[in-house]
Amino acid sequence: MEVIDVELERKEILKRYRKLLRSAKPILKDGDAKLIKKAFFTSMEAHKGMRRKSGEPYIYHPLAVAQIAIDEIGLGTTSIVSALLHDVVEDTELEVGDIERAFGPKVAKIIDGLTKISGVFEYGTSQQAENFRKMLLTLSDDVRVILIKLADRLHNMRTLGSMARNSQLKIASETIYIYAPLAHRLGLYAIKTELEDLHLKHTEPEVYRQIADSLRQTKASRDKFIKDFITPLEHELAGHGFDFVIKGRPKSIYSIWNKMKKQKIPFDEVYDLFAVRVILRTKLENEKAACWQVYSIVTDFYKPNPDRLRDWISTPRSNGYESLHTTVMSKTGQWVEVQIRSERMDEIAEKGYAAHWKYKEAGHANQSGLEVWICKVREMLEQDDSSAIEFVDDFRTNLFNEEVFVFTPKGDLKILPHGSTALDFAFDIHSEIGAHCLGAKVNQKLVPLNYILHNGDQVEILTSNKQKPNEDWLKFVVTSKARTKIKEFMREDKRRVITEGREMVRRRLRQLKLENEPEILNQLRAYFNAKTINDFFYQVGKGYISWNEIKKFRSEKLQKANAKKEDFTDAKNFEKEIKKIRGVESDMLLIGEDMDKIDYILAKCCNPIPGDDVFGFVTVNEGIKIHRTSCPNAVELMSNYGYRIIKAKWTSQTELAFLAGLRITGTDRVGLVNDVTRIISNELKVNMRSITIDTNDGIFEGNIMLFVHDTTHLETLMKKLYKVDGIVNVTRFDS
Ligand code: MN
Repeated sequence: MEVIDVELERKEILKRYRKLLRSAKPILKDGDAKLIKKAFFTSMEAHKGMRRKSGEPYIYHPLAVAQIAIDEIGLGTTSIVSALLHDVVEDTELEVGDIERAFGPKVAKIIDGLTKISGVFEYGTSQQAENFRKMLLTLSDDVRVILIKLADRLHNMRTLGSMARNSQLKIASETIYIYAPLAHRLGLYAIKTELEDLHLKHTEPEVYRQIADSLRQTKASRDKFIKDFITPLEHELAGHGFDFVIKGRPKSIYSIWNKMKKQKIPFDEVYDLFAVRVILRTKLENEKAACWQVYSIVTDFYKPNPDRLRDWISTPRSNGYESLHTTVMSKTGQWVEVQIRSERMDEIAEKGYAAHWKYKEAGHANQSGLEVWICKVREMLEQDDSSAIEFVDDFRTNLFNEEVFVFTPKGDLKILPHGSTALDFAFDIHSEIGAHCLGAKVNQKLVPLNYILHNGDQVEILTSNKQKPNEDWLKFVVTSKARTKIKEFMREDKRRVITEGREMVRRRLRQLKLENEPEILNQLRAYFNAKTINDFFYQVGKGYISWNEIKKFRSEKLQKANAKKEDFTDAKNFEKEIKKIRGVESDMLLIGEDMDKIDYILAKCCNPIPGDDVFGFVTVNEGIKIHRTSCPNAVELMSNYGYRIIKAKWTSQTELAFLAGLRITGTDRVGLVNDVTRIISNELKVNMRSITIDTNDGIFEGNIMLFVHDTTHLETLMKKLYKVDGIVNVTRFDS
């Protein structure tokens, strides 16, 4: 059993309390210290005997939250008092009324707000949305509620290690979902960054550790690089009489990880691991000019990338951020981002909202983007009569844009890359669910697999045991997990079908009293036009080649053996027949003319049309088949079955229509399909049998089966289609 030294703990608590007072000292006015003391003792008394999951006295937590409120957000006495008391109404006997009597209405209102939004995101979607809306309402009421909530969340994230794993994941997810973007929106850059890093540390500890290690290992060389880079600048700036500091700051682990993921590169290839920051001490009225002067000096020294100049001094970002950014080429050929700003700008950039107000009260800043934003939020909330979910959806589209946040039917949060589909979601839940995904219900409505998810969607996956992944799925998944799994399933499926097919062939050959030997198998392969023997097994396994067709192969084989006796498939017999019918000396089949007298059909594998070079092939049961000489099967047929080939040509005045296929590719645009079909049907009066259009990432691909008279006709059509704006390629294809 752990022995707790109460006296030691009491000393530690007082030590932390005194530290808090010391930090607050510069901002304290008359009576403030007394108020903080009262809040501290009230909180300590209320939380007496309570401990955190780590075993520490509970009071450490409110003390730490208050410390963050001062040091990292720059808040004042009311906020410190509220931070110290932030958990008492929720966790202890004290009520809002007690707080109001002891500390007044302002503090009571903040505590009330904090209590109402505590337990945010505990339940289902609508509950979460409702809580989020409540949180925003407090934002327009008194921003301090959210700022203290952020301090609270930051301390909870810093001490997340002692929580159970499932709680860790839940809290870390909420953090990246709501708190980090909110911190960003309120200009609390340092807190936002730390929240993101802590999120990564707890959700992907291995990744976090590796990047942190790599950063440590490369620190010495990076420091040297930074030193070499800034030393000449320091001389130059000092020479011009500037009062300044220059820092080389590493980027956050989270942002490095994002870059690695987005650009699919290893750590070594992330070049902008740090940014150089020049912070100027200057009078407010000079700061803009001073920043531009420094810019001019920096870019005299290092060549800037003209595409990478960001002027957030003339027009600050909507979260209040002011800074001048440029990316310049170092003497060693590496791009380096340089941020130039005044001390005031730097404090606002790091601490955000509260710092902004500090300067505002001192009569500095104008109406900032931040206030405009808060006004807008207030307006939205006031006029809003949509459901909470609709509201959050609208709101979030502005707040978040790189990832999509969706929910399971039970209200669990899933974060997926922007552009993810219902199928990605299914694979994210479980690869088996993905593999059998039939469709989904999004916000109770039925949607197809390729539905693109929106923030706040609640997704329920529908599955069927009969469903299986197919090639098309790869076209609309964006997550690598889904992609990999689909490919794996398909490979696995193919292997299984081949094995089945091989076994089926073995059994059938035995039934047909044929040897299961390479020569026979190769004949089968050729007969069925398979590229490889596995391809043949696959077709059998899939049922594309039926039992009857294999029997047919055998009977043809037998007939071939008996051909000398009674040759029905010999081309010579047909040639004689043709001569008899036409009564002329030509032994050539005239396609079109002899149609009703001789049994022939056009092969589906190459869809010959008048004008094509063709030949006739005498089949066993289907009469003569006309193939194009360029048919993929032609070589095989002509070399193995020369005795079954007959000459054929087109008659000249045929008015018949023949089926041909066209493949059109190009860049997609509105009205393209219309233009294509208009030319085919209206202008050239061609009948289409089918048209399938696929558009993907702005690429248009269409397969059209249509009836043409001959090759000239087809060529005219292809030329016309080529001229359609956006079409890049028109080719004829076989079946
Ligand atoms: Mn708390």
